[in-house]
Amino acid sequence: MTERTTSFWIRNNRPSFRYDAVIVGGGIVGCATAFWLRRIRPGLNIAILEREYLGSGASGRNAGFVLQGTATSYALDIDRFGRQLAARLYQLTLENRNLIFSEIPSDAIDAHATGSVTAAGSDKESESLRKSEGLLRQDGFAAEYHSSAEINGILGSRGFYGGLLVPSGGVLDPVKLLRFLASQSRATLYEYDPVESVHTDGSMARIVTGHREFESDHVLVSANAYLPLVLPESDGARHVRPVRAQMLATAPVPVFLERPVYSHDGYFYVRQHASGRILVGGARHLHVADEVGYSDAVTSTLQRDLESYLSEFFPRVGDFEVVDRWSGTMGFSPDGRPSVGSLPGNAHGLWVAGFTGHGMSIAFRMGLLLARRMLGDADEYAPIFSADRHAEVGDAGDDHAAAENSKP
Ligand SMILES: Cc1cc2nc3c(=O)[nH]c(=O)nc-3n(C[C@H](O)[C@H](O)[C@H](O)COP(=O)(O)OP(=O)(O)OC[C@H]3O[C@@H](n4cnc5c(N)ncnc54)[C@H](O)[C@@H]3O)c2cc1C
Repeated sequence: MTERTTSFWIRNNRPSFRYDAVIVGGGIVGCATAFWLRRIRPGLNIAILEREYLGSGASGRNAGFVLQGTATSYALDIDRFGRQLAARLYQLTLENRNLIFSEIPSDAIDAHATGSVTAAGSDKESESLRKSEGLLRQDGFAAEYHSSAEINGILGSRGFYGGLLVPSGGVLDPVKLLRFLASQSRATLYEYDPVESVHTDGSMARIVTGHREFESDHVLVSANAYLPLVLPESDGARHVRPVRAQMLATAPVPVFLERPVYSHDGYFYVRQHASGRILVGGARHLHVADEVGYSDAVTSTLQRDLESYLSEFFPRVGDFEVVDRWSGTMGFSPDGRPSVGSLPGNAHGLWVAGFTGHGMSIAFRMGLLLARRMLGDADEYAPIFSADRHAEVGDAGDDHAAAENSKP
């Protein structure tokens, strides 16, 4: 992030604004919440406050996979969450996907119901995927396990040990999605103006940025990885820690890859855009110590690993030229699922964080949950994300084992 300063004069002459609802953070979660607020209460006066520009966080930098379940396999989710909770989380992501396709014109956001593949990078992973297929089917979810020969045939790949095809997976353009939601919400967008403090007092919230002041009845802080910086008093580090992810995009190659592919326990992910360009990301597990914090930078060693992965597993890509390389900051939670907490002293003030590399798969439905909660309404999924479950653990950074099981 480029360092910016704000003068005494600007700070001393901040204009004041009054809104019914203010959202801090112009990522997919903030924009989805604004969209649903508008749907539920059309008369609301809504503002989105963004430190840089809409989509400047992870939401404008991801791979655009819309997957089901969490970042780990269904069998592993059952091991760590229990069967009932794993099924509820899976159902929620399915609803997220279905809502995207029913509420948003697919051509406005380049959404394609391609299905998705989780490909195994080892025998052990293949076994977990085979087990997941049985468990998913028992719980009423569609999934097809394929042997090594079958999955490599389907993907035009080589070297995968097996794979799980989930027909409900899909892809979209995350920036088109964000912009569509923001425009439909008719929220006033304030960009390049970081929020410096959020104070809540009874039924009113006061939000101060570098250039402005806001008062609002309802407030949501949806800054994900940046929560501990925006609300230092919120104990945010207990719920989220910043983890970097890197990607690259090649020049167009002949189209062969129909579906997004997650592999190696989610540590690699690859898709082919309609333009023929291949997008690949991950390799974080090979550089765990470096891929933390808020620095927006790529490293030559990790980028080389992404290129090697592409050549090794997808020989049909052939010789390729890399035309874009980028990074993004994800917010990892201790148990891989996001948390929703209340702002002290304000019944309608909330924060949300910890999407753990999987936010596109959950955010649109989560926006509905958040909009309902901001307006004082119930949502059946709310208890799953209560921040109170982390009350007994230390900082999110202490729980590396759990976080490292969360991708990408
Ligand atoms: C490289 C990469 C690939 C990924 N691939 C996928 C994928 O394919 N599928 C998937 O499901 N997930 C993927 N993810 C994860 C997904 O992008 C995130 O989970 C999701 O975008 C989180 O959304 P968000 O709105 O909570 O956070 P963000 O998009 O990070 O939004 C938070 C916003 O808050 C703003 N902000 C911060 N501080 C302030 C402040 N002081 N004042 C005002 N605004 C502030 C930030 O600038 C940012 O725009 C990927 C992530 C990365 C980085």
